[in-house]
Amino acid sequence: MKIFKFGGASVKDAESIKNVASIIKSEGASDTLVVVSAMGKMTNAFEEVVDAYYNKEENLPDKLNFIEEYHNNIMEALFAKDDEIYKDVAILFGELGWFLARNTSQRFNYVYDQIICFGELLSTKIISAYLTKIGLENIWFDVRNYIKTDSNYRDAKVDWSLTEEIITNKVDATKINITQGFIAANDTENTTTLGREGSDYTAGIFAYCLNAESVTIWKDVPGVLNADPRVFENTTLLNQISYEEAIEMAFYGASVIHPKTLQPLERKEVPLLVRSFVNPKEPGTKISKGSNLEPLIPCFIVKKDQILVSISALDFSFMVENNISYIFQKLHDYQLKVNLIQNSAISFSVCIDNKFKKFDSFYNDLKNEFKLEVQKGIDLFTVRHFDDEAVESIEEKGTSLLTQVNKETIQIVLQAN
Ligand code: ADP
Ligand code: ASP
Ligand code: MG
Repeated sequence: MKIFKFGGASVKDAESIKNVASIIKSEGASDTLVVVSAMGKMTNAFEEVVDAYYNKEENLPDKLNFIEEYHNNIMEALFAKDDEIYKDVAILFGELGWFLARNTSQRFNYVYDQIICFGELLSTKIISAYLTKIGLENIWFDVRNYIKTDSNYRDAKVDWSLTEEIITNKVDATKINITQGFIAANDTENTTTLGREGSDYTAGIFAYCLNAESVTIWKDVPGVLNADPRVFENTTLLNQISYEEAIEMAFYGASVIHPKTLQPLERKEVPLLVRSFVNPKEPGTKISKGSNLEPLIPCFIVKKDQILVSISALDFSFMVENNISYIFQKLHDYQLKVNLIQNSAISFSVCIDNKFKKFDSFYNDLKNEFKLEVQKGIDLFTVRHFDDEAVESIEEKGTSLLTQVNKETIQIVLQAN
């Protein structure tokens, strides 16, 4: 069985959905499980709904209308007026309305997951109906009955043994299957999510459990390039890379692949193909097992909008195990993701992502015990397989605040010019 994954950009409007259908028809007309994300930027739109609902803002109905209209426009371009799909979509909006009216929980992350999941439920319903309409028989299923997680809402951990048991028993590997990326459920049937951009990971989970022959993630780029083309000019396609290389790139922030996707695939040696939905005839990048699959050119990765914090003790003591472990516990408590650490005798510097917007609480918690120097809005550049020219090309972008080098990788924290 093959696994395909289509992200938001590939299903952002009616034309894109037709394109996805033609790719499925020519490349995955049977024995294929298709994982789909929410359409376009709908997850961001649902995040606005979550905020408006949680903060009891008056513009909640406008936010909901925007989402309804977005999907309606797409449906009107794909289906006749009396198609069954309108009823299915109305049922989903009814379920969402029911949750919004009945919910009494104040737990933000729980509320977030119960609302955000509708992006994927809507997109898969519409795409499945469209495939049926053009004669591609398919099975739509609710992934929440297949992928089981703990209750760590917004960043849930997969229960692998239970998930594997359900998936191997329930998936009909001979058909076209359509399901949602990113979302899952815990043992009380509440919706959980695997973290933003987690649909690639969903594809990896299915591939692992089904011993798939391959996973193809269809993207708006020709494959894995040696840098993000939105940030760097003159990028080069990497035709073949090893799992290890791809894991390193994704870990350091190459957002073309969700970092959690690769390890399950590596474990079962399922190749990952990154291909273009714009030019589906092109082979793209193949990620597989092999020692001679290193890129021979420098690869650039950037994480923007980071915070660099330098922490030292108020009483002039050294930064050693006890206070570092204390700080790490706090970083964990405030869900701050650490992207780089550097330690000296008297200070400890971390470059962090403020994804969950809890940095200020962290700062206030620590400011009476430590001296904290903070620089916000900085960029973290990573260059794999670096050479002098590559390092210079980064350093000329701004003021370098901190550098860390190991054998294959250099990381530079930079305040942009
Ligand atoms: P999806 O539609 O599946 O969510 P994403 O937008 O998350 O797709 O990922 C594709 C994007 O990843 C590209 O548009 C590109 O800007 C970005 N990207 C970052 N690093 C790389 C890289 N090394 N190679 C290719 N694309 C990259
Ligand atoms: N729709 C989700 C997001 O935008 C998951 C994904 O697209 O991978 O984060
Ligand atoms: Mg994405």
